[in-house]
Parts: sequence; structure tokens; C-alpha cells
Amino acid sequence: AEAAFSVTLLEGVTGSGKTEVYFDAIAETLRRGQQALILLPEIALTVQFLSRFEARFGCQPAAWHSELSPPRRQHIWRAVAEGEVRVLVGARSALFLPFAELGLIVVDEEHDPAFKQEEGVIYHARDMAVVRASLGEFPIVLASATPSLETRVNVESGRYRTISLSRRHGGAQLPTIEAVDMRAAALPADRWLSPRLVTAMRDSLARGEQVLLFLNRRGYAPLTLCRACGHRLACPQCSAWLVEHRFQGRVQCHHCGFETAKPESCPACGEEDRLVPCGPGVERLAEEVALLLPDITPAILSGDNPRERGLSSVRDTIDAFGRGEIPLLIGTQIIAKGHHFPGLTLVGVVDADLGLAGGDLRAAERTYQLLHQVSGRAGRGNQAGHVILQSYMPEHPVMQALVSGDSEQFLTAETAARRARRLPPFGRLVALILSGPDLEQLRQFATTLARTAPHGDGISVLGPAPAPLALLRGRHRYRLLLMADRRQDIQQTIRHWLARHKVPNAVRLHIDVDPYSFL
Ligand SMILES: [Zn+2]
Ligand SMILES: [Zn+2]
Repeated sequence: AEAAFSVTLLEGVTGSGKTEVYFDAIAETLRRGQQALILLPEIALTVQFLSRFEARFGCQPAAWHSELSPPRRQHIWRAVAEGEVRVLVGARSALFLPFAELGLIVVDEEHDPAFKQEEGVIYHARDMAVVRASLGEFPIVLASATPSLETRVNVESGRYRTISLSRRHGGAQLPTIEAVDMRAAALPADRWLSPRLVTAMRDSLARGEQVLLFLNRRGYAPLTLCRACGHRLACPQCSAWLVEHRFQGRVQCHHCGFETAKPESCPACGEEDRLVPCGPGVERLAEEVALLLPDITPAILSGDNPRERGLSSVRDTIDAFGRGEIPLLIGTQIIAKGHHFPGLTLVGVVDADLGLAGGDLRAAERTYQLLHQVSGRAGRGNQAGHVILQSYMPEHPVMQALVSGDSEQFLTAETAARRARRLPPFGRLVALILSGPDLEQLRQFATTLARTAPHGDGISVLGPAPAPLALLRGRHRYRLLLMADRRQDIQQTIRHWLARHKVPNAVRLHIDVDPYSFL
């Protein structure tokens, strides 16, 4: 029997058996003689995942990711086209492989920002996958512990079906989550671990259990300041601070990749030894841990250590932590994805507020998703896990939702706020980013564009204004934001608008529909 098109949200916390449920759907697809595709954020494509698949199906699926050699790539491409590959697991670009008889797509971690392609042709792999399934008239499953607001709205309106798995598998308990008020902790300026967290770390390690410290900041310190003149080390090509990477002895721009040796003296006033690091990155946190727990050698996982040679060695560290060979791991969001760490019982979120800053419309939603995901790493074996969130605003709805375990109130409020402001998914938002080497020319063109911007019923344009990242790779950037309700044919509106203008040669125009990045 042929299966028809349908979209199903498979919602369940980490360890609830989501994977087993969609493995059943894959088995059914194979029985029908069709192929299945599992889309994953690339970093979630682990040895653990592949062996789990093998345990169920008796063979490994074909894997598609950025580190494949060109011959291997060609081989898989052909095998998919000829129907030899029955199940393929891959990152978002796997969607474009020429499947002979595709009968099911599973998008695991459907809420993950990694599915939004930001460079070149901008697309959202989850949304493309839904279109693909609709054209091919077969079912698609979106799996997540923290579904995106877009998907929740589609469920509420009845467009998507839903399966909810409420319990953890095999009676394993959900972790308990507490927030530590960092205002009350009153730490010295160069310390980031509260006494509460340090005590919990000592207790867990003394019991022979593992600890994970989560800090979403690569490098040693996000800012370097001159104590003599107040100068801050900034990227010469971007409006961004240079991040110190102490292992390499260098400072680096995380936006354009510019890097240089860390200067001994201040480039502005020439004073020596007055440059001080401000704020923590994962490398600096490791120093604090070593100071507090001299018997412990923490490992760092941030995807950019010189010893981490690419994604495969990141996976090695993750697997070693999973086998219990590392007592304490300090990691960025690279460790948040669906890994299984049976000996991990304590997760410390060093700066739970970090993702809430900035003007991103999804900041609260994404912070909730990320912290929920990180929390889900704790306590998946026989022991219950515990999570400590360090926050300067423990009363924030995101922290409240995490601590209470009740996300409904937060998500309902978030949905209502987006609906009221006609923001996605209730309205359309388009960012037009103009960039160029000549600030005056750029400003003039942006102003001309704004003067002829579409306006009227259900459509408005904000700007131009300098983009938050006003300088990137030596090019100035201006931004216009177009807001429209869903009735508008936004692509056509933009085409008509831009057709009346000639973009100057030196100016680049970048159009991002429903942007995920607001820099
Ligand atoms: Zn100075
Ligand atoms: Zn830069």
C-alpha cells in the first residue's frame, strides 16, 4: 500500500524513545520497498547514532556529511539514485540527493538552527523537506524535544499531526533543574562558578559520576581591554571584539576569521603588560576548574582546539566522555545535541542568560530549546540527573519554564507575543542587507530604497539603519526590515520594488526571508 503525504510532529524529551518510534516508521517504509532519509544536524551524526541504527536494522545506514571524500560522495550519490542505499542519514544537503524511490523523511531535532542554510542559496531544510514530501506524496516526521514555534502553530491549526511521548524510557527520571541567583552569589570579578555549583561538582565527582559544564563561548576571553588607556582589541575589518585563544597565543575575530598574535603591548598607547582579558570563554573556565579541583583534568570541547582536528575528533571526545573516560567536560553548544552520556549526573550551565541578549526575535525560544537540550544530557542511566542554571535573571520566563518543567505558559506567551506583533510564523519578515566599501554611497542607496519601499495595508518597512554588525570583512552594512502579513505575495512585492532600482556596482544586496540571524 502506498502511503500518502502527512506531516507528523513526534514530540518527546530526551530518552523518551523518539528514535525507536521513527525507526518503526522506517521499517514500515522498507517493507513497502521504498527508501528513507533521516536528516540530522551534522554534529548529531555520531558513532552512537549509527550503532543504534545497526542494532535495530542489522546494518549501518549510508551517511552523508561534509567530511566525505569526493569519490565516496560520488559513490553514495549513485547508490542513492540506483536505489541500492535503502536508508540514508545525513546533514541538510542530503535533501538534494536523487533518491530513486523515497518514501519517508525524518527530520530529527527539527527545531535546530543548523537546518537553516545562511550562506549562498538561503533555505530552511526542514521546510524544504516538507515540500519534498508533499510533492512526492509520502509522509514526513519532525522529531524534537522542544519543537519550534512554527511547528507548534502548525499542530495547533491542525495542519500537522502529533505524537507525544511524555515519559523517559525504562523508568529513567527527568533531571531536576534549579536556578542559582548570581546576584546573590556575589563572586569576585574573575570567578564564574558559584559556591552552590562547585559543591555539587565536588559531590558528583566524589561519587565517581561525571560533570558537564556548559558555556557557549569559544576561546579564553571574549574581550581584551587595556588597563592603561581603555583601548579594546577590535577586529580591523568588523565591528566586533577580538576573542583571545590562549592555547594558540592568538586573538581572533569570530565573524570573519581575522587573527593575529596576541600583542604584548597595547596597540593604542604602547604600555606593556596592561592588556587584561574580560569575561570567560571555555579555556578560561578550565583554569578556574583546575584551581578549584586540582585532582581533576577537565577536557574542553568547542570545535576549535588545535588538538581537535575537525569533526571526527570532536566525535572522539564525545564518545570518550560517553564511555566515562573523562570526569569533567567543558563544552560549547557542540555538546548539546543528542548524545548519550550514561555516567553524567550533573550539568552546570555557567551563563544561562547568554543567549537572551541581542535583538533576535527567536532569542527566548532558542535559549529555551538549547538549555532544555543541554539539561537533557543529565541522568540518563540509572541515576537521576541534576542541572544548575547560573543566572542573573532567574525570574525570566525562560528560567521559570526550565525550573518548573512546565513550558506551556512560556510558549503560549511567546506565541501570543509573536501573533500580536505579526512576527513569524504569523507574519513574514524579510531582511535586506546592503553592504559596500563606501559608507556614503551605501547610505544614499539605502535611503533611496527606503523612500520607494512598499507600504500600505499589511506591509511596512523599517530602516534603513546600520546593521548590528555594521562592519563585516571591511564592508559597511545597512539593513532594511520588511514586515508583511501572510496574505502578501512577498517575493513578488520585493521583485517589483527592487526592479525600480539599479544596485550600484560596489554594493551587494542580500535578501533573507524569515531570517534566523539578526546580525
Ligand atoms: Zn592602552
Ligand atoms: Zn572580523
